[in-house]
Amino acid sequence: MPDDIRHDDRYETVETSPAVSDEVKSTTCYMCACRCGINVHLKDGSIRYIEGNRDHPVNKGVLCAKGSAGIMQHYSPARLSQPLRRVGPRGSGEFEPISWDEALETATDWLSDVRRRDPRKLAFFTGRDQSQSLTGFWASQFGTPNHAAHGGFCSVNMAAAGIYTIGGSFWEFGEPDWENTRYFLMFGVAEDHDSNPIKMGLGKLKTQGKAKFVSVNPVRTGYSAIADEWVGIRPGTDGLFVMALIHELIRTGKVDLEFLARYTNAHWLVRRAPGTADDGLFVRGSDGKPLAYDRNKDQLVDAGRTDISPAMRGAFPLHTAAPGDGGSNDEAVPVFQLLLDRYLDTKYSPDAVAAQTGLDADRIRRIAAELAHAAFEQEISLDVEWTDWAGRKHDKIIGRPVSMHAMRGISAHSNGFQTCRAIHVLQMLLGSIDCPGGFRYKPPFPRPAPPGPKPAGKPHQVSAGNPMAGPPLGFVTGPEDLLVDESGEALRIDKAYSWDAPLAAHGLMHMVIRNAWAGDPYPIDVLFMFMANMSWNSSMNTTETAEMLTATDPETGEYRIPKIIYSDAYQSEMIAYADLILPDTTYLERWDCISLLDRPICSADGPADAIRQPVVAPDRDVRPFQDVLIELGARLGLPAFTDETGGPKFPGGYPDYLTHHERTPGIGPLAGWRGEDGESHGHGAPNDNQLDRYVANGCFWSEEFAPDERYYKHSNRAYLEKAASMGWIAAADPIVLQLYSEPLQRFKLAGLGFGDIVPPVRYRERIAEAFDPLPVWYAPFEDGHTDVQAYPIHALTQRPMAMYHSWGSQNAWLRQIHGWNKLYMNRSSAEGHGLADGDKVRVESPYGSIRATIALMEGCNGDTVWTWNAIGKKRGAWNLAPDAPESEKGFLLNHLITDLLPPKDGYRFSNTDPITGQAAWFDLRVRVTRDDGAATTDDALRSSHLPRAPGVEPAPRRLRFGARFLPRGSWRRNRGETGE
Ligand code: SF4
Repeated sequence: MPDDIRHDDRYETVETSPAVSDEVKSTTCYMCACRCGINVHLKDGSIRYIEGNRDHPVNKGVLCAKGSAGIMQHYSPARLSQPLRRVGPRGSGEFEPISWDEALETATDWLSDVRRRDPRKLAFFTGRDQSQSLTGFWASQFGTPNHAAHGGFCSVNMAAAGIYTIGGSFWEFGEPDWENTRYFLMFGVAEDHDSNPIKMGLGKLKTQGKAKFVSVNPVRTGYSAIADEWVGIRPGTDGLFVMALIHELIRTGKVDLEFLARYTNAHWLVRRAPGTADDGLFVRGSDGKPLAYDRNKDQLVDAGRTDISPAMRGAFPLHTAAPGDGGSNDEAVPVFQLLLDRYLDTKYSPDAVAAQTGLDADRIRRIAAELAHAAFEQEISLDVEWTDWAGRKHDKIIGRPVSMHAMRGISAHSNGFQTCRAIHVLQMLLGSIDCPGGFRYKPPFPRPAPPGPKPAGKPHQVSAGNPMAGPPLGFVTGPEDLLVDESGEALRIDKAYSWDAPLAAHGLMHMVIRNAWAGDPYPIDVLFMFMANMSWNSSMNTTETAEMLTATDPETGEYRIPKIIYSDAYQSEMIAYADLILPDTTYLERWDCISLLDRPICSADGPADAIRQPVVAPDRDVRPFQDVLIELGARLGLPAFTDETGGPKFPGGYPDYLTHHERTPGIGPLAGWRGEDGESHGHGAPNDNQLDRYVANGCFWSEEFAPDERYYKHSNRAYLEKAASMGWIAAADPIVLQLYSEPLQRFKLAGLGFGDIVPPVRYRERIAEAFDPLPVWYAPFEDGHTDVQAYPIHALTQRPMAMYHSWGSQNAWLRQIHGWNKLYMNRSSAEGHGLADGDKVRVESPYGSIRATIALMEGCNGDTVWTWNAIGKKRGAWNLAPDAPESEKGFLLNHLITDLLPPKDGYRFSNTDPITGQAAWFDLRVRVTRDDGAATTDDALRSSHLPRAPGVEPAPRRLRFGARFLPRGSWRRNRGETGE
């Protein structure tokens, strides 16, 4: 083709073998929580495109819409470009630019003052932070117990229930054995966790065609859309459904008794001594070990012995003397007997739960029968020799090929913890834990259930000017571990590990602003947040949260939360409420670490970790938050961040820390290529060239287990020894799965008034009811507080597959998928109320009202409405146009959710699970009526318009990317503004 035609504006050149990039750099995606490996193609120093890394253990080359749209995240017009200091009133969005020196000096002044006086007065909370092993460590070094990330809002119920029950959990910490499973049961899911691995796994199931995929979810979207069977359950009743399945399995004798006796505490004896402080605790020998009843010897023996025939049923007298002579009538009952007594009760029969769950009883019976068929009639046997913890050799690995997965749909209810535990009990009864075809742990799990350490923050562990003697987050096992004062009141600002939320393993970030505003349990001086859009989509009760952030003390005129430091890469809604802004880089401009000390990317077949490397240099005056934190640590003189001269210990910032920090001797943030020669993995001295080795290997390290280490990790000697040698567990002891949870019983006893440490009276009933050592179902709290006749509809938010929190919904490419959100309703329910597709409606809860447009669909529970989360935006936030559909037509259900339950005996509990403090934002009840034009709660929030922060350039009207890479003369290249 002659040149003049090729370059004619009327034609576009099509290069069939274009040189798309002149450099490719590998790193790790951060467009959601999955942490896939990516290769970033660069041309002329700019990002050309992003592809999945085919060698990476997480995604094996798969890249989702979000991942490829990382380009637009990186070049977002909402990026902050310099440190800022507030000059207008809070919330006005008025700032002045300042230098980094000034910003760091200000932060150091504020923080050192707090540390010198009372380190608790710093509340340091992070959002979608992937550097929690650093941020938690920093908080501990600072000396404040007031630290957590956003897990309490997200899915701590799932994580904590798993850890306390099987020593591991779903989330991204375990996975179905996609290769071998024959039945996959999935409960409502957040699709930004383990997303690509699940998509790949479902693809495998569908391709192989050997497994049935059943999705239990009030809404049939995402993964559920391709399920073989959709169970459109009523929200908050999943626990009842699971307990009915358990009822059926027990009733029909479809239970793996051998698995239970071998790997769980089914045969451990529980003391039955009603009305005493020992009731419901394990019967223990003089060495403290739990006892079982040996049927061969007719005596109590160490339950861990392998040469016994333990009784699984019955009741055994424990008295040592005649009652009245100092003896007692106490009995010992095996856990399995208690389990039978609980779930054979007809209240858990399919017929009994049908009305509440909205599921037909015969259908529940059929699903139970299908689970049993898959587990016991389709048993898998792998010809692999392995040795269990006791040295017994096995020539096969037997599998029960039923696998399960669950996440936020279960978690974000006030009964979520117990529902999650019920799912794990169901798995145990089927014998499908870490076996071929079942759920499989990803290292460093399993860990003892629960593992250490305990959370630090007791009065003797916190002192002015000193680090705390332990981490701020951990696992409690009884009332004595709680962080409460002598009168039983909370010691942490979020009330984690208090009687409000005893097992709050991820803290309660969603309650920090409320409590700090109220000075309950005490006022704080500095609120320091990172990547957490707390004034908008990461809070329940968004309306009042904004008011609390701006509230002043009427006497002094000072803000009730005196100082707010915030770090983010973008001009989110939260920016307007900060006093000092430390602008972060994008994920493509910094070093980062996906650590085994934190939330690793392992597979069930081996450990892995990863890094991010800067693929481009920042073109703005921004700094990676982790570098800033390390520098602040040095300026504040935190021991772990300063050397013996008092100078910075990691002058090279985060990469220096990643390479040289040792949490314990030989264990650092990265497991690969340790030791001076770089040839050790898991354990070894720091290696100066470690990051180079990661970069050379595509920015990840991974290792494969030997065949005999891959299954039954909780009891597999080879695996346990490896786990101990890698520092994942303290010793190569077996991990006993906890059908019955003694820590829960300890709290229950305290709620009943037994023991030295009991809760204040207002907590007693709540603790006694919720802390059941066997999973129990109670109605979501909202149902008890709300007039369900007036607000008959459940309202849920879901994470769209194409977006990750508020980040994704400002992304120019992804906005084209979900530009604004609608309220989805079941078609026949809506039509029954005279509502049609596209109608404008008013959605009301007892706490507020919003306006929405409805869309009708068949795949939605008839009593449920739902929408996509975090798409509705405040006007002007994220540098979107004033008439952006996100702020003009989008909405947030958060405006309708309460963060507090109604007063009870003068006290308002948070709207959370009473065990873990998980935000119960899926308990929401609403009514939906045709829009009457009256003002709504969110009108006020829409009416203000956030100004652009200094240094944030006006966004182009048309934002597109890539034209510059087209051949010169191409009409596309020249067409209009690009915003590049
Ligand atoms: S699943 Fe998440 S981490 Fe993986 S490519 Fe997509 S956005 Fe990135």
